[in-house]
Amino acid sequence: MRDSDSLLAWYDAHARDLPWRVGPHERANGVVPDPYRIWLSEVMLQQTTVAAVKSYFERFTTLWPTVGDLAAAEDGAVMGEWAGLGYYARARNLLKCAREVAGAHDGCFPDTAEGLRALPGIGPYTSAAIAAIAFDRPETVVDGNVERVMARVHDIRTPMPAAKPEMKAAAARMTPQARPGDYAQAVMDLGATICTPRNPACGICPWMSICAARRAGVQADLPVKAPKKAKPIRLGIAYVARRADGAWLLERREDKGLLGGMLGWPGTHWAEDAPHPSPPLEGDWTLLSEEARHTFTHFHLRLKIATTWVPQETRPNRGDFLPQSAFRPSDLPTVMRKVFDLAEKTLQ
Ligand code: SF4
Repeated sequence: MRDSDSLLAWYDAHARDLPWRVGPHERANGVVPDPYRIWLSEVMLQQTTVAAVKSYFERFTTLWPTVGDLAAAEDGAVMGEWAGLGYYARARNLLKCAREVAGAHDGCFPDTAEGLRALPGIGPYTSAAIAAIAFDRPETVVDGNVERVMARVHDIRTPMPAAKPEMKAAAARMTPQARPGDYAQAVMDLGATICTPRNPACGICPWMSICAARRAGVQADLPVKAPKKAKPIRLGIAYVARRADGAWLLERREDKGLLGGMLGWPGTHWAEDAPHPSPPLEGDWTLLSEEARHTFTHFHLRLKIATTWVPQETRPNRGDFLPQSAFRPSDLPTVMRKVFDLAEKTLQ
């Protein structure tokens, strides 16, 4: 039996039930995955866990069941539904990609990794994953789970990230020509459920007999991580103004950059030096004693929060007042939501 066969036999019995997945039995009975659902799930899963993605995926596919529906959606509606998933550039690329597929490709995703990679927001990993899972192409799909499994099965002790090419080469050697889509998902499932970061369940692993790290007794130490760099701390001030009629002063952030295109509170730049106050209107600002804290990929953010009530005729020098009836805190990205949760108590 080939190594891929033992893993596929395990997958046939233990595949995770995921809302975007066509399971091994359905696939064997001729059910074909919907490339739109596979693409959407893969974009959502970049940097985010399966557990966090499930409810977003269900909502998106209910609101926009096809790529054409998503392409026709309003930007603000999609950004609002994406709020909380983080990495907002992905949502902007999601829309760009949907519009390109709906327009230039007549609503059909390209069926090769190369064709997929030409679309906005689809890099080498995502194109390989979609080509394998949606179109059963024998692509090598390597995410964090697969890297861990490869490091252990082949006892790769080079520290990350230098070990990545070695892991990818090992994964490529193991990828079969038969059932490559199921195989790609099987390795991911193995990493997510059996070959977990801590305490891998080697006793019930289908690759127990071929696993070099297990034989050497070093599986829990692999992959070897590079020492972590400390993240810098950036500081800023967010201004939350409420008008006499209950409207909130918000601004849509510029398309480019962090949280681009998302709604937020006007504020200062975020920098490592103490921020210079720059309120969006003249008012009787109160600085809250609590600050909002949030961690992005490259830095920690500490935001002081200033709040004020302003009269009805106030004209801000940035942002717009959004009526209370049109304001959904859930449309805000997580850091802005944290600011709201603290500010709200003082602006009832
Ligand atoms: S035997 Fe253990 S360490 Fe090796 S692949 Fe299986 S779960 Fe991972």
